[in-house]
Amino acid sequence: MAASGGAGLANRAVIVGAGEAGAQGAISLRQAGFKGEIIMLGAETAPPYQRPPLSKAYLKGELTQERLYLRPAAFYEKQDITLRLGERARHIDRAGQKVVTEKEEAISNDRLLLATGAPPRHLHAPAPISTASTIYARFRTRTPCGRSSPAKDAS
Ligand SMILES: Cc1cc2nc3c(=O)[nH]c(=O)nc-3n(C[C@H](O)[C@H](O)[C@H](O)COP(=O)(O)OP(=O)(O)OC[C@H]3O[C@@H](n4cnc5c(N)ncnc54)[C@H](O)[C@@H]3O)c2cc1C
Repeated sequence: MAASGGAGLANRAVIVGAGEAGAQGAISLRQAGFKGEIIMLGAETAPPYQRPPLSKAYLKGELTQERLYLRPAAFYEKQDITLRLGERARHIDRAGQKVVTEKEEAISNDRLLLATGAPPRHLHAPAPISTASTIYARFRTRTPCGRSSPAKDAS
């Protein structure tokens, strides 16, 4: 298992989940004067973006992709916030203060924010509700700055 940071490492915040909550967590840490390293692990390949417009203005073509992003890419660079997109946390070693990624990298931290959101909840209700489709959208990119389109998953 690869390791990032030694046992004595301090002053590194790891944020699991690069959605709105994760991004706001990183922004708030900087606003509060946190000077340490901030690493955001995001399972999606897109930088933090707003989801609500996906089913509204963006779906209707009234909003460009750039307007969905919470902050431009340069912001994270300027704020020294490391976005590690397309990287999923698999395990948390609380005693060892490490987050282990799917690639088996152990990232030491002395601050940990879990901002992994929640999946849609399926209703177990009688027909016709149970037979109705729930449609939700996820923003999809091939690369962090690549071409994208809202993806609709029906379940
Ligand atoms: C199409 C759509 C429309 C919506 N419209 C509205 C609305 O009108 N009003 C409203 O109030 N809310 C709306 N919502 C809900 C709102 O967008 C969510 O409440 C909000 O996105 C939650 O933000 P979050 O950061 O907590 O979680 P999320 O946005 O779910 O972000 C969590 C992130 O963590 C990542 N993640 C999960 N597990 C891991 C892991 N192990 N390692 C690394 N990363 C991980 C996920 O991939 C995800 O990117 C809508 C949602 C959708 C999808």
